[in-house]
Amino acid sequence: MTHRPLGLYIHIPFCRQRCDFCAFYLEIHHENRAETFIRSLMHEIGLSAQQHVTPNRPIQSVYFGGGTPTVLAATQLTSILSEIRTRFNLAFNCEVTVEAHPSTISEEYLLRLRQSGVTRMSFGVESMEDGDLVRIGRPGAVTETVAALTQARAAGFTNINLDLMYGLPGQNLESWKQTLARSLELAPTHLSAYALTVEQNTRLATNIQSQRSPGPDEGLQIEMDEAAQRILSAAGYERYEVSNYAKPGYACRHNLLYWTNGEYLGWGPSAQSYLGGTRFGNVADLATYDTSLAANRLPNEDRTRLSDKEQLRDAVIFGLRLIRGIPSHQLHLHATNYGHAAVTARLLAQRLIEEDGERSRLSARGILQADTIAEQLY
Ligand code: SF4
Repeated sequence: MTHRPLGLYIHIPFCRQRCDFCAFYLEIHHENRAETFIRSLMHEIGLSAQQHVTPNRPIQSVYFGGGTPTVLAATQLTSILSEIRTRFNLAFNCEVTVEAHPSTISEEYLLRLRQSGVTRMSFGVESMEDGDLVRIGRPGAVTETVAALTQARAAGFTNINLDLMYGLPGQNLESWKQTLARSLELAPTHLSAYALTVEQNTRLATNIQSQRSPGPDEGLQIEMDEAAQRILSAAGYERYEVSNYAKPGYACRHNLLYWTNGEYLGWGPSAQSYLGGTRFGNVADLATYDTSLAANRLPNEDRTRLSDKEQLRDAVIFGLRLIRGIPSHQLHLHATNYGHAAVTARLLAQRLIEEDGERSRLSARGILQADTIAEQLY
C-alpha cells in the first residue's frame, strides 16, 4: 500500500514580544503558560495519532513554527519531538525544521536540537540592517544573526534557511540589495524573500494610518523582487516558489506539501490540517485549546469537506505558486469547473501565465502579480 506524503506542523504560540507587522495568533511567552501548553500539546499529539493517522504511515516532514519555537527551552522542544517519534513513524530521511529567532539560541541549544534529530534550522532574519529591524518593532540585531549562523554550523547544521522581508518602512532598493549581499555572505542553503503586507489590526497598520510610517510602495516592491531574483540566481539559488529560493536539493519539503496539495496535520492553537480531502483548523485561543484537551477533546473547528472540484481548485491555486507550474489540463479543467475560461484566456493572452504544451506556469511578470492572479482564478 502506498501512502501520500504526510507532514506534521507544530504551532508554538509564543514570542517575547509582537513585531509591528505580525498578525499571527500568539501570546507573550510566560514559563507557566508554556508548561501548560506543552502538556496540552502532548495530549493533542496522542489523540491525533489515534484518530487521524493510519498506524505506520510514514511522516516525511515535521515543522516547528510559530510564534517563536525557540522561546521554549531546548529540552521542551526535544521532548515534543520525542513524543512525536513515539506516536508516529518518521521516515528515515524525514525533514525536521525548527524556526528560530537568532537572539533566542546558543550553540549548546542548537546542539541539543541537532542531537534530537532536527535536520533544518530556519532563522527569522527579516533584514540585515539594524535600522530596518527597529522600524518594524522587531527585537534583535544583525550581529546576533551572524552569530546564530556560526553557532548553527558549529552544532552540525548544514541545511539552513534565512527568512527575509522586503518593502519595509524606510528600506530602499540599495539597502535591500545590501541585506541580500550580507545574507549571501552567511551562505544559507535556502532563502525566503517575502514582500511586506500590511495586515489589519497590527501596529504597522496603525502607524501607516497615523502617518508615522510610510505605506508600502508597490512599484518599489516589484523592483526589490526583481533584484532578489537576479542576485540570488547569480549566486546559484533556484527560485522554486514565488517567495522561495534554494540551492539544488534544498527546497523545503514541508512547504512543498502545501503547494502540491499534500496532506498535513497541524497541532497547537490556530494550526491548520488537511487530511483525506477535509480541511480543519484548531481554535485560535490558547485558553480554549488547553480546556478542550483537558476534557480529552481535540480542539478542532471549521471542518470543511472539499469536493473533487474544490480539491482541484486548491491544487491549481497553490500549484501556480511553484515556478515549475502545474499540468495544463488541470488549469483548463479548473477553468471549466468554475466558469473561469475567459479569465484564463486573458491571463494567457497577456502572457501572465505561459504554457509549453504540457505545463502552465506564471511568467516572470505573472510571478510579480501572483496574489492577484490567484484571486482571479479562485
Ligand atoms: S517573531 Fe515572528 S511570530 Fe513572533 S511576533 Fe515577530 S513576526 Fe510574529
